[in-house]
Amino acid sequence: MSKKYLHILSFDGLSKVDIEKMKKFPTFSKFYENASGCINVKSVYPSLTYCAHASISTGVYPNNHGIINNTKMQMNRVSPDWHWYEKDIKVPTFQEVANKAGYSILSILWPVTAGSKNIKYNMPEVMANRKWQNQIMVSLISGSPLFQIEMNSKFGKLRNGISEPELDNFSHASFLYSISKYKPDINMVHYIDLDSQRHDYGFDSKEANDALKRLDGRLEDLIKKLKKEGIYEDSVIVVLGDHSSRDIHSKIYLNTLFNKEKLLSKCEDGTISSYKVVCKSSDGSAYIYADNEVSDDKILEIINPLVENNIIEKIYISQEAGEFGADSNCRFMLEAAEGYFFANPVREKVIMTSEESTKYNEKLYRNNHGFSPYTKKDYETVFLVSGKGIKKGVFIDDMNLVDEGPTFAAILGLDMKNVDGRVLEELLED
Ligand SMILES: [Zn+2]
Repeated sequence: MSKKYLHILSFDGLSKVDIEKMKKFPTFSKFYENASGCINVKSVYPSLTYCAHASISTGVYPNNHGIINNTKMQMNRVSPDWHWYEKDIKVPTFQEVANKAGYSILSILWPVTAGSKNIKYNMPEVMANRKWQNQIMVSLISGSPLFQIEMNSKFGKLRNGISEPELDNFSHASFLYSISKYKPDINMVHYIDLDSQRHDYGFDSKEANDALKRLDGRLEDLIKKLKKEGIYEDSVIVVLGDHSSRDIHSKIYLNTLFNKEKLLSKCEDGTISSYKVVCKSSDGSAYIYADNEVSDDKILEIINPLVENNIIEKIYISQEAGEFGADSNCRFMLEAAEGYFFANPVREKVIMTSEESTKYNEKLYRNNHGFSPYTKKDYETVFLVSGKGIKKGVFIDDMNLVDEGPTFAAILGLDMKNVDGRVLEELLED
């Protein structure tokens, strides 16, 4: 097979409803005209960034790759650890398959890549989450140290903590520079700007729409860079999203009810010290975990009033959660109604507006995800691919995130085994 470069751009939170807006942008419109793909891509359940990206990378659903939530079950922590580390993924990733086949990989802030042995130039998304840890040190030892020192010294001045768009400006500069300097075969980048603006300001806010425009600019910069380096004709560019999102007004503190029923104990800060039943939030959805001694009826008796009041949309039993690709080790999985999402702490009220919750130093969310891709309307994301060996203008009606990893592999002439998804053969030239 002749030389081919694969560039994968994840625009976090990109929704199918964004495409009409993006088609009016100068670069995206041209890209879209020459692309194939799908603008009706089902995310995974829960539709969270880490579950979704792990499904993109592995081609299997969360209950098969093991990243069934963004964060770990650390109910006694205000800020639980995220599944930052690749070792938390229980099956081979696309990156592993490609690395074994001799492809070099650059990865900038791609989720669940910390500690990866498969990525040559790795700047993982990882956070110093203990008082004694220092962010620079944690990042350096979780990725490629010398590479990250180089990027930080060249572009570190562009970033301002995790605030956006500065963080993406830094990622973007590092991405483009590394493509020129190292010419890796596979280049993956995760842009967080859009998702971050939506969390803070809402789905259709000016801030979110400005972020969409910036993404168009980033695509333009990449194409210019590839042309300048003389590798554009040998390139395949993928633009994908991981989930859509919903504007929200209130949080559901379900553990407050379990605490009242003496089924769990809390610490002073509202975190959970011990439990027989507990609600672990996945934002728009939540898992209920329970000891065997507590009956289903007892739990349902506590939750049912919230269903009757249209605060919880649906209660799924563990088997249904498993069929959706979520964690079947839960007792129940809950789907929040429109406008609500779940939070872990015990508070004085079960329902609180997002504004009200800030008195506990909780972040003010106006928009969130984690909801069911099977029940929420217009909740799909997108997958677009264009370039060498890719047909033009072939759009399929629907697909799943788990089809993406196997398709990346096929684009490079590789094969991922034992996946839940399928290769999107109809997009590929023979
Ligand atoms: Zn995301």
